[in-house]
Amino acid sequence: YFISFEGLDGAGKTTQLDLFEGWLEREGYPFVRTREPGGTSLGVEIRRLLFQHPELTITPLAEAFLFQADRAQHFETLILPALAAHKVVVSDRCFDSSIAYQGAAQGVGTELIEYLSRLATQGHAPDLTFFLDLDPELVHLRTSKAHDARGQREEQSRFDLASVAFHTRLRQAFLTLAQAYPQRMKIIDASQPPEQVHQDIILLTQHLFQT
Ligand code: C5P
Ligand code: MG
Repeated sequence: YFISFEGLDGAGKTTQLDLFEGWLEREGYPFVRTREPGGTSLGVEIRRLLFQHPELTITPLAEAFLFQADRAQHFETLILPALAAHKVVVSDRCFDSSIAYQGAAQGVGTELIEYLSRLATQGHAPDLTFFLDLDPELVHLRTSKAHDARGQREEQSRFDLASVAFHTRLRQAFLTLAQAYPQRMKIIDASQPPEQVHQDIILLTQHLFQT
């Protein structure tokens, strides 16, 4: 099974991935935890290009291709082999992020990104995607605080200081995807306590594993 976690920055994705990983371990499922971008050696370099070179001007279209290059390598060399070996693959983000960030919020166009993603994934998609949904006002508060606190941490999200309007566009894009693919993509209320969010995720995962 292939499961991805999506969400605006600050929605609690990392916390939930940690809890989920602990659950998989306790239950004894063989799994691989990975992320986009950065799940392969090439991906780590692409991630560095994207997030550690503030002096680089990257056009939205070029950025979209960098994410897709990361994804092509990721699927071919890591995700598809792990699935073939019957492992559970858990990814911190997948192509829904590209559709929302580059496609919708940055204006490259969602259909173009969906098409490029189909090439990069060789037509594969997660069996289950959790969209950790949080009010854009809260996201804005959390991310600008995180930005202040981070100071000179190596990696700076280019969107930490983005406007509430930007985050609202992003959230709308994720919600539209969840509406289009209700079977695969589940909206999780990320304003709940982390333990409750985790329980919601486990219930849906157990349902998938039973089918
Ligand atoms: O989730 P993570 O912290 O790894 O994401 C790194 C940064 O890249 C975040 O600011 C996220 O919003 C952004 N991103 C993006 N387009 C994607 C995936 C992530 O702009 N397709
Ligand atoms: Mg993050």
